[in-house]
Amino acid sequence: MSQTGEQGTLYVISAPSGAGKTSLVGEMIRADARLGVSVSHTTRPMRPGEQDGVNYHFISREEFEAMIGRDEFLEHADVFGNYYGTSQVWVEQTLARGRDVILEIDWQGATQVRRLMPHCVSVFIVPPSAAVLRERLVGRGTDAPEVVERRLREAAEECRHALEFDYLVVNDDFAEALSQLLSIVTCQRLRMDRQEVRHAGLLSSLMDGDGA
Ligand code: GDP
Ligand code: ADP
Ligand code: 5GP
Repeated sequence: MSQTGEQGTLYVISAPSGAGKTSLVGEMIRADARLGVSVSHTTRPMRPGEQDGVNYHFISREEFEAMIGRDEFLEHADVFGNYYGTSQVWVEQTLARGRDVILEIDWQGATQVRRLMPHCVSVFIVPPSAAVLRERLVGRGTDAPEVVERRLREAAEECRHALEFDYLVVNDDFAEALSQLLSIVTCQRLRMDRQEVRHAGLLSSLMDGDGA
């Protein structure tokens, strides 16, 4: 538990591949020290520039299946032919310390997390158009052409689940999308169920009319 006994908030962020979620989440955690991002496990090959333990924990299919067998994932899914999964222990311990946690996961994982942790806050990010999504995926230059084509084909399926999320952010102008995401975090922290705990002393003294 955190010093105040307050649990962190769990954010689930999904988007079609190339919409900008990794870049946006990276800036969110740089902007707000109380936010942390869960490093997923995956069986996909490492991209140039990626680091094991930083972008993902890169493991084999055998290791992944052994972790499923030991029930170590909060959620896991097959995305574009690879396994991806979120460590249950890390998420639970980090929330218990009072930090907010972001999961960057696909819609199948989001469905599982909503069922297990109904108080989570979910955000869907979309690009301003399908043409821009293609430009970003190609421009990122990290995936082979057939991988890009597969991701674009599967983008529509991901987007068909957008209405299941609490918030929608259109990532056209990066700075604006970032500010909208940070506003969602601010709104959550201002909710009465959170504020009444943090400001219990203030509220009770105001209600008692102390010193008036
Ligand atoms: P990018 O995010 O599109 O650049 O590509 P990635 O290869 O990093 O991620 C591929 C897909 O896997 C995306 O839809 C992610 O949201 C999803 N993903 C990443 N980590 C996890 C995870 O831990 N669990 C689940 N369910 N999906 C994940
Ligand atoms: P995802 O994690 O959703 O697959 P990335 O964060 O890797 O997406 O972004 C895909 C590409 O688009 C990257 O090259 C990134 O620099 C670029 N990008 C992200 N957001 C914007 C934006 N608002 N305007 C222009 N380019 C962007
Ligand atoms: P990429 O391979 O481009 O890094 O990610 C592809 C997709 O996998 C993204 O849409 C990303 O959100 C999803 N993804 C990454 N990690 C996880 C995870 O732990 N669980 C689930 N369900 N999806 C994930």
